[in-house]
Amino acid sequence: MYNCLKCPGFCCSYPVIAINKRDVERLARFHGVDFDTAVKRYTKSAHGHKYLLRRKADPHFGKICRFFDTEERRCTIYKGRPSVCRSYPGPGRCGYYDFLSFERRAQDDPDRVAITDHKEN
Ligand code: SF4
Ligand code: SF4
Repeated sequence: MYNCLKCPGFCCSYPVIAINKRDVERLARFHGVDFDTAVKRYTKSAHGHKYLLRRKADPHFGKICRFFDTEERRCTIYKGRPSVCRSYPGPGRCGYYDFLSFERRAQDDPDRVAITDHKEN
């Protein structure tokens, strides 16, 4: 239905990735720091959420989760990732991957990573 290993990580570029207290505790354990340090280093409060994952620059999407490897295009904290990352995109399909797969077929380019720019004819 979708293959995250063949995707540039669109879902990790969402501006609002809200996590909960247990996720912060898991991040703290994973990194071997205390809870308050994890809150300060890895989260910020915004858009009505207490803990949002912090972001960083990304050449592909503009900004992306601070835990994303922008070269390898993958999560660097897979075992410590928050619950929302574990359950996304749910049991169905991934809409982004559907678009991406369509573009790859339409452009005859199986390595394509963008869905917005098109080849010149
Ligand atoms: S956008 Fe979809 S296919 Fe891409 S990494 Fe996220 S869940 Fe996987
Ligand atoms: S923690 Fe990992 S899976 Fe979750 S948004 Fe960040 S890079 Fe993606």
